[in-house]
Amino acid sequence: MSHYDVLVEGAGPAGATAAYYLAMQGKKVALVDRAKFPREKACGGGLCVHIEEFDHIISNWDDFLESKCLRGIVYGPDFMPVDYVSEKPFFYNIRRLKFDNTLVEYAVEKGATLIEGVAVKNFEVHNDKVVTKLRNGEELTSDVIIGAGGSFDMVSRRIRDIEKMPMKWRDEDIATALYFEIDVGREYMDKVYGEERISMAHIKYQNLDGYGWSFSKDTVLNVGIGCPRSVIKSLKKEKPGWDERQYLLDYVETLKEQGWFPKDIQVDRKMIAGSNIPVGMGMKCTVGDRMLVIGDAGGFVSPLSGEGLYYALDSGRIAAEALEVLFKDGNFDKQSMMLYHNTWSNKWGDDLEWLKVAWHLLMVMPNSLIKYAALDEETKEFFTHMFVGSMPASKIKNKVLALIAKGALKHDFLSHIIGQHEKVPPLTN
Ligand SMILES: Cc1cc2nc3c(=O)[nH]c(=O)nc-3n(C[C@H](O)[C@H](O)[C@H](O)COP(=O)(O)OP(=O)(O)OC[C@H]3O[C@@H](n4cnc5c(N)ncnc54)[C@H](O)[C@@H]3O)c2cc1C
Repeated sequence: MSHYDVLVEGAGPAGATAAYYLAMQGKKVALVDRAKFPREKACGGGLCVHIEEFDHIISNWDDFLESKCLRGIVYGPDFMPVDYVSEKPFFYNIRRLKFDNTLVEYAVEKGATLIEGVAVKNFEVHNDKVVTKLRNGEELTSDVIIGAGGSFDMVSRRIRDIEKMPMKWRDEDIATALYFEIDVGREYMDKVYGEERISMAHIKYQNLDGYGWSFSKDTVLNVGIGCPRSVIKSLKKEKPGWDERQYLLDYVETLKEQGWFPKDIQVDRKMIAGSNIPVGMGMKCTVGDRMLVIGDAGGFVSPLSGEGLYYALDSGRIAAEALEVLFKDGNFDKQSMMLYHNTWSNKWGDDLEWLKVAWHLLMVMPNSLIKYAALDEETKEFFTHMFVGSMPASKIKNKVLALIAKGALKHDFLSHIIGQHEKVPPLTN
């Protein structure tokens, strides 16, 4: 039976990053994934600007970068737009097939052992080790197991069971997101989405909680929609025959009408894929004896935007750094493993909670918030910081709340009293 210092279950961005940093410390790491790489993963493929924290990302852009975004256009449910232009990129576009594969390659280059095409079946935690069974019958032992298997990860289920937490995310804390990618050619992309590679979102499209997006890669458009599962479930009950695939197809028609999608391209249901995004602000406990969870497995996703890639990478790095400390005296009981939980929680636990507040505000008053941003540069700037992580949400929350209050006073209350309503500037090209 092979023994590893750490077995990482799942080689997505979270698992591959943990393996990369652990292998750099000289640890013996097994990186196990049920898929064979390169593999596709449902995603918008947008990296928010805080990804710049990672040296191995910013020094290797050529390996996977599709485009840098310098302009964002966000529409409200009544199609009022706010247009944000920046001199510096605030959003980077990748495609997951290549990005995830490259992160796995980096981990392997540093010395991690990739075991692909075979799923982890089960694991048992003993006093002195973890015994992990693979679907092919092979057994591996390790000092620690990291769960990085996505939203319904088996290590997170074990922690939920031990901690007597609900076994699943609540329907309002998990989003269903659907997407497709299509090559529209460089000529179309340059003409319509420009060299600044506009990123676009339609908040509360058709008045449903959530948003639709169209992200411009090099020559490929990535178009999708995301809604809390609670919304999707109740709509299906209310409107028999309604489904989320049709909702995305409707969205494509709107993009066509607005001139953001080629009119001659037909999208059919078979092109659409989907998955879940855990937007419940992180699990209340993410560790147990000899185990911890990272990425979607821990529920580390911005509830405002559904952005999980930064948190996947960062929780992978934080896990590796915490384990480096714990390997010094070889104690991996739950209390010691809390070093990991406390570190991510201190770094961005509050941000996730504030991003949830921001999400609720955006769902309650989308048209007003878009209007305040469209009419005031500072408001636009700070809303963008919240959305793309260029400033920690918990640090700017008071400023953002103050700007919302200012917007309500100036653009709703006062303008109502004096009977003059300012016009939101139309989009220029
Ligand atoms: C439609 C959609 C759009 C999104 N858009 C964005 C976006 O634009 N930007 C952004 O930042 N985030 C986005 N996200 C969220 C982002 O995709 C996730 O947060 C991110 O993939 C989390 O990475 P991860 O490594 O934790 O999990 P994953 O990427 O899900 O990787 C988990 C891996 O574990 C493997 N696995 C699972 N179970 C086992 C097992 N038992 N044994 C072995 N292997 C196993 C899987 O095969 C998989 O490779 C989007 C999500 C969706 C669904």
